[in-house]
Amino acid sequence: MSSNSSTQAEVRVRFAPSPTGLLHIGGLRSALFNWLWARHNHGQFILRLEDTDRTRLVPGAEDQIIRSLQALGLEPDEGPELGGEYGPYRQSDRLNMYREQAQKLLETGALYRCWCPPERLTSLREAAQRAGKAFVYDRHCLTAENQSDAREPHVLRFRIPEAPQSVVWDDAVRGRLSFETATLDDFVALKADGYPTYHFANVVDDHLMAISHVLRADEWIPSTPNIYSCLLHSAGRHRYTRTYRPFKAPPAARNYLNVTVLNLSRNM
Ligand SMILES: [Zn+2]
Repeated sequence: MSSNSSTQAEVRVRFAPSPTGLLHIGGLRSALFNWLWARHNHGQFILRLEDTDRTRLVPGAEDQIIRSLQALGLEPDEGPELGGEYGPYRQSDRLNMYREQAQKLLETGALYRCWCPPERLTSLREAAQRAGKAFVYDRHCLTAENQSDAREPHVLRFRIPEAPQSVVWDDAVRGRLSFETATLDDFVALKADGYPTYHFANVVDDHLMAISHVLRADEWIPSTPNIYSCLLHSAGRHRYTRTYRPFKAPPAARNYLNVTVLNLSRNM
C-alpha cells in the first residue's frame, strides 16, 4: 500500500460511526474519548463515516451525527464537511481505494475469488451448526478445478495463513490479549457488489489515514482477530509492522474502552 506521509509521533484518532441510525450515547462516549486523546496530545481528531452498508442507511443520520458533534463542541479536525489531507472521509467515496488495495492483495495471493452461491454457504452453515462447530468456509473455490470465470459475480476472501499462529497484542486498557489464527474463517473482504466489508475497509482506512490509536467500545474486541489477520497477511509481503506504545487510560475509561495502538510502517 502507498500512503500519505506522516510522522510516527503524531496522534491521529478517528471516530467512525455508521449512518445506519442516529448517534446514541455509546457512540458519543467513543467520540468523547477520541476527542480528549487528540486534544491532550495536540493531535488530530478525524470523523469518518462508514456508510458502505447501503441497505441500512437511515436518511438524515449523517447530518444528525455531524450536527451532534458540533453542538457538543467535539469538532473534528478532518471530516466529510471539512475535508483534509487524507480524504475523502465517507467510505462510499473511497470505493476505488478498496478495490485498488484488493487488487494488490489478489495478486499476492492474500485474497482469492469465491463464487459460492448463498445456498451453498447456507447449507455449510447449517451443517456446522448441526455438528456444534463454528462455521469456517471450506475453501471450495481455492482449488483449480473450482475456479470459474473472473467475470462471473464473486466475492474476494482473505486467505488466513495455513500454519496456526498465536497473535498476542497489548491492549492499553485490557492488558495482554491473544487468539489463535486456527479459529479464523476466510472472511470476505470485498463483496460481489464491489463494496468492502467492515473489517477490510477499516484496515485500509486506518492505514491510509495514518491513524495512530484506535479507541473504541469493548464490543469491538471480537472483531480484532480479523483485523489483525489482515495485518498478518501483509506482514511478509508489505512490511507491515506493529508496535504498541504505552497508553495511560483514565480510570473512568477502563470499563468502556479498548485501545489498540497502531504503528504501521509508512514504507508500504
Ligand atoms: Zn467459494
